[in-house]
Amino acid sequence: MNSWKAFTGEARIAYFSMEIGLSNEIPTYSGGLGVLAGDTIKSAADLKLPLAAVTLVYREGYFRQTIDADGWQQELPRNWQPESLLELLPLKTLVTIEGRDVKIQAWLYRVKSPTGGEVPVLFLDTDIPGNQDEDRHITDQLYGGDSAYRLKQEIVLGIGGARILDALGFTIRKYHMNEGHASLLTLELLNRTRKPVEETWDERASWDTARVMEQCVFTTHTPVEAGHDRFSYDLAAGIMGEVVPFTLLKELAGKDLLNMTMLALNLSRYVNGVAKKHGEISKVLFPGFEIHAITNGIHPFTWASPYFVNLFNHYLPSWATEPELLVRVDNIPDEEIWDAHCGAKAYLFQFIEETTGVRLKPEVLTVGFARRAAAYKRGDLVFSNLKRLLEIGEGKLQFVFSGKAHPKDMAGKQVIQRIIQQIESLRGRIDIVYLENYNMDIAARLIPGVDLWLNNPLRPLEASGTSGMKAALNGIPNFSVLDGWWIEGHIEGVTGWSIGPLPTESSTNENHSEADIEDMYRKLETIIIPMYYDQRSEWIRIMKNSIGKIAYYFNTHTMMRRYVTEAYIR
Ligand SMILES: *Cc1c(COP(=O)(O)O)cnc(C)c1O
Repeated sequence: MNSWKAFTGEARIAYFSMEIGLSNEIPTYSGGLGVLAGDTIKSAADLKLPLAAVTLVYREGYFRQTIDADGWQQELPRNWQPESLLELLPLKTLVTIEGRDVKIQAWLYRVKSPTGGEVPVLFLDTDIPGNQDEDRHITDQLYGGDSAYRLKQEIVLGIGGARILDALGFTIRKYHMNEGHASLLTLELLNRTRKPVEETWDERASWDTARVMEQCVFTTHTPVEAGHDRFSYDLAAGIMGEVVPFTLLKELAGKDLLNMTMLALNLSRYVNGVAKKHGEISKVLFPGFEIHAITNGIHPFTWASPYFVNLFNHYLPSWATEPELLVRVDNIPDEEIWDAHCGAKAYLFQFIEETTGVRLKPEVLTVGFARRAAAYKRGDLVFSNLKRLLEIGEGKLQFVFSGKAHPKDMAGKQVIQRIIQQIESLRGRIDIVYLENYNMDIAARLIPGVDLWLNNPLRPLEASGTSGMKAALNGIPNFSVLDGWWIEGHIEGVTGWSIGPLPTESSTNENHSEADIEDMYRKLETIIIPMYYDQRSEWIRIMKNSIGKIAYYFNTHTMMRRYVTEAYIR
């Protein structure tokens, strides 16, 4: 019954995230941000870091995707039973929404590492008898509803999250906001640290922003102005009332709109972007703030296929808790790397045949592309010139795609539809499959099972990206636009290949579609296809470099050590 009390003895880092993806069974994530949060928590457990995570329970999950005969995405509910996987904690807290008291309860999930480390994750829930009907639905849908619904969720996450940690007896040494959705927690902290007015004789000076700053760490993930959460002050006044005086709130969160990123920036001593370039871009977006960069990672054990787990266990024991050891990948014989890869490829192809009926050819160079179907990721870019693609790739290339579009993202759904249309137009010449309902299980099977991992976002919109790191860990070479983490991981012809122009550091609106397309076709034709078919040992060298020069570094163990030394214990 008092299970959580094991976690309250030691002061912890509270890690707040709107979405957390720990496993497929807990469908409270939509994409990279959530999976990163889950991987962060798993590495924290492996490293025995004192962390406690907070998110919302989303009883309706993120949706299940099907694709109809017209290639149009359909959304089905993905209900799940928190009670079958999580433990309901007995203490509750309250927040005020539209003048009503809204009760919040928390479900506990314990992330346990083989090292003995453990991290509690609290899933907040307003579906409690006694709450008004509409309030019981606040924690139902991830990224659903309108901006009023979102603001209510952010009140529950930020203010409710800080309060429930307190109610449960947690001592918090730092609050880490993973993206701006949890920024309202700073207002709760401001109220807690407020000095009596009679001490200062000055209303403004009674709000100790410096003390709140000392407690807060903020990671921004969004490289474009429009991507940041903003609410009108009218909406905020109606929904959350005056948590702190509006004059003060406007000073901290923006004059005209309540900007969650601004609020977090103004109240965090340490702020970072999620790759070096993203840090630079954030400095341009938010002049006057000191913004650092800690590049994202992936959790090694979660994302290594069973074939590579066996291989690494044999040749590089303790790699999973000390991924730096992957630097010694050259101890593994080439044939065993190739065999492990063929195992992962066969395992994927079996899944493809079972779910789509399509039998891909094991000997053909297979290109993978899977991630959220957002327009900026340009999933259909490789089909820009079908004639050219056929000249280069007929009989020599096949493609596996997957990815969900947000239900309201028509441009994203159109990208999916255009990819599906190519299945017909290229049938018999270049095989293409689109796997429905991309999720963590499909990612874990798809990414290690292709031969080449393609990524061609519109610069500079990929703040970091992580799926390419999952590929590298499984010896899959990256073929990617130089944006996000790939600028740091890329060595041309050594760890993989770039697409399009070299990155320039500060520009925030580069668009080189024509150059990207041309470069993609040229490298496929003159470098990648010939190497795959005719220089297998060269290809395996790139596979090994992906493990030894990328995966050994771009992981959440390394990333968390940096958060500890650069952000948490400063
Ligand atoms: C890793 C992962 C992502 C992130 O992919 P990017 O290419 O980095 O955007 C998204 N969805 C799932 C299910 C993942 O596992």
